[in-house]
Parts: sequence; C-alpha cells; structure tokens
Amino acid sequence: MVTMGNTIQAPRGTQDVLPSQSGRWQFVESTARETARLFGFTEIRTPVFEQTELFLRSVGETTDVVNKEMYTFADKGGRSITLRPEGTAGVVRAMLEHGLLNGALPVKTAYFTSCYRYEKPQAGRLREFHQFGVEAFGAASPTADVEVIALAAQVLERLGLTGLRLELNSIGCPACRAEYHKALKAYFEAQKAELCATCRDRLDRNPMRILDCKSPVCREIAAGAPVILDFLCGDCRAHFDGVKAGLQAAGLSYTVNPTIVRGLDYYTRTVFEFVSGAIGAQGTVCGGGRYDGLCAQMGGPDLPALGFGMGLERVLLVMEAQNCPFPEEEPCEIYIGSIGEAAARRALALCDALRREGFFALCDTVGRSVKAQMKYADKIGAKCCLMLGDDELAAGKAMLKDMKTGEQTQVALDAGLIEAVYDRSIDRAFADLSEAIEESGVELPGRASEKRGRIE
Ligand code: ATP
Ligand code: MG
Repeated sequence: MVTMGNTIQAPRGTQDVLPSQSGRWQFVESTARETARLFGFTEIRTPVFEQTELFLRSVGETTDVVNKEMYTFADKGGRSITLRPEGTAGVVRAMLEHGLLNGALPVKTAYFTSCYRYEKPQAGRLREFHQFGVEAFGAASPTADVEVIALAAQVLERLGLTGLRLELNSIGCPACRAEYHKALKAYFEAQKAELCATCRDRLDRNPMRILDCKSPVCREIAAGAPVILDFLCGDCRAHFDGVKAGLQAAGLSYTVNPTIVRGLDYYTRTVFEFVSGAIGAQGTVCGGGRYDGLCAQMGGPDLPALGFGMGLERVLLVMEAQNCPFPEEEPCEIYIGSIGEAAARRALALCDALRREGFFALCDTVGRSVKAQMKYADKIGAKCCLMLGDDELAAGKAMLKDMKTGEQTQVALDAGLIEAVYDRSIDRAFADLSEAIEESGVELPGRASEKRGRIE
C-alpha cells in the first residue's frame, strides 16, 4: 500500500461516490430517468453556476437558501456568480432564454443536478447534494399536480422505498396570502420577544418564513399559528380540492399537513413532500409544488408551472436503511491471462474483439506471474479464464476454464473463443430466465415452457 503524508481531504459537507457505490447511483438515476420518460418528461442540463441575480429573483431574498446558504463569489471578471442551490431557477431561465415556452404546452422536463448549500453537514444534509427534479410548464389543472406527484411516487416505488408519507398542503395565491400574512403577523407580533433574531426580522419581511424556521422555540410558537388553509380564496380552494380528489382517484394516499410552506419563495397553491421515517430528522426525500407566478416574475410569459426536487443522497439512505435490493454488478465474463509479451499482445487483441461483441473481458496489464493472474481472475469473480503462452499461440487453441465448475474446454482462438463465450452467455441467460419463471410460479403456455423443459 502506498502511504502519503499530508494528503488533502474533500471539503466539509461533500461526499465521494466511490466505484464500489456508483452502481447504486446509476440504478437510482436510470430508474428515475426511465420513469420520467414514461410520463413524458425529457432531460435538460443547465450550468452548475448562474448569475447570482437569478436566485435572488426566484428563490427569494428572505429565504434561508439565499440569506445563509448560497455559495456566491465574484469571478475574475467581477461578476457575482452563485453555485446553484436548487434546480428550478436555472431551468426556468433556460426555458425563457431559448423561447421554449412559446410553443405547444405543456413543456415537461427532468434533470439530474448537483446543488450547493452552505448548511451544517449531518446525515442526509450535505453542502453538495444531488437532486432528480422535474418541471412542467403551462399546465394549470389539478391533473398536472397529480401527475407530477404520481411521477415522484412511482420513482420511489420502483426503487423499493416503503412506508413513505405524502404530505400535502396549499399555500394559496398572492391574493389569499395577503390576508393570511396579516393574520400571521398579528399572531407572531404578540410573541415577538420569544422569536429568534432571524424570525423577528422575518416578521416584517415575510412572516410565512417563520413557519419554516428550524429553531425549537420558533417551531413551538409556529405550531399554534393560523393556518393558510383557512384563508384560501375560492379558486385556490377548488384547485386544492381537485388535487385531493385526483390523488384519491390515482390511489395515492396523502395527509394534509398545513404546516408545510416549503423553503423557497416561488411556491403557490399545491406544495408537497414525501417523508420517510427511516433515516431520522432529514426524512424529506422529495419536495415540490406549484410556482404559477415564477415565469412571469422572471420576465417570461405568465404560465402556470410546477415541479419537484428529489434528494438522491436521502433516497439512497432510505434504500440502504430499508435493505432495498440493488441490481448486482455484471461480473467479468472472461479473464485472458498470458505468459510473455507476444501472448500479452494477443490477449489484449482477443479482449478487444470480445468487447466489440459486448462482453466484459479483461487481461493482464500489470505483468503478474501466471499464478498471480489466476488468483486475480478468481478474486474479481471472472466467470471463465483462458491462459495464453507460446504453445497456445503456436497451436491457435487454448483451454477455456469455467471458474465455477473447474471444467475445461478447448477453444480455437479468435472466432472459436468468441463463439464459446457467446454460447455460455446465452445458456446463462436461459438459466436465469427459467429460474425467474420458476420463482414467479407462473406457468407459461407454448414455447416458453418448452424451452424451460429443455433447460431442466
Ligand atoms: P430541508 O427542509 O430538509 O432543508 P428543503 O426544503 O431545503 O429541505 P428543497 O429545497 O425542497 O429542500 O430540496 C428538495 C430536496 O432536496 C429535499 O426534499 C431533500 O431531499 C434534498 N435536500 C435539500 N437540501 C439538502 C441538503 N443540504 N443535503 C441533502 N439533500 C438535501
Ligand atoms: Mg433546507
């Protein structure tokens, strides 16, 4: 092992995804991507950094994200730049900049993004974290809310998470919120002395933010505050009723939680969270809602919109806590060992040919002894192994060894080898299939059961 003094460590609140773990991430990402595709959301990619102004105008200047958590710096040209703290603002900016909202509606897009927030790192709370997010523009009906919530639910379900709570609320439109703000202000004013300093400041600027404060005292006071649901205007109430009825019809159970206000200013009407009890305090794996005013506020068309952000680190934490199955890594199909330089070159050429056919093939690249190569092939779990020396090169043949059974078969090099590996993989696919059918207990008529009979 190489030891190094004085090595540099990753910044606080960041996390490396090591090669042994990346398969898990890929599984989560491909599941989310595929589910999004089935719902008609196509991927968008936006920059990691944006002009600071973008987040001030969208996320809102009274939010914790903007006030305390942003990674903002001046670049060498003196511009104020911010690492994106969330995904929606950049997507809205891109939509407007490229005129994507001027055509057929709705426009539905999904993304995977890293986000940056200067927070106190703890389990499920990082300074660099990752989200799977979706946004839908131009759909005002409650059906759109239900569709977006159903998409999040299906992703989480496909990943195997169980016991999640869907918490739902409506925070109304600016009209109903004006009345609500007055009531909230009156309520908090009476207990102003006990509020934290930040919340005393919020009282004038944006009293709803107090409901989102994490300090225990403020939380206790907030628990008795008037709830927005009692202040919804007729249209917002009808919308909320529509969402609830739609969720019910879609078989998605929910609880109305009037304390959910979400941490970003742009939300209107529906807000929701998927919460897990499996990972402690940071249990919200997904949060989202409507932001009907944001496009217009950002200088674009006045279009309704909605979306969500799903925290991938938290999803993975829940999956691990609940022992959700992850697909197994595909093992190395064949290891081609060699003795001597000519054989090493031939081994590499054979590997290349096999890789062109789609097989995971490896050969020695570190100059190990034959014994060490065999040991290595065994260690990495290679399915079969071939050893090339001068004799094998001269004869154009070698022994293909099955690492599990120890069985050896002679194969001609090149074409013969590829065919042998190909046949083995077909046999294995059939064996896997028949095992899966066996396990499922389903009796298949016709051809499938004939094949099955043949394998057994
Ligand atoms: P919280 O209340 O936990 O701080 P939030 O309301 O700030 O969450 P959003 O801005 O709605 O979170 O982000 C959507 C999702 O991203 C969250 O539900 C969560 O799963 C994840 N998330 C947010 N902040 C972090 C973080 N610092 N580290 C890891 N995941 C995060
Ligand atoms: Mg937060």
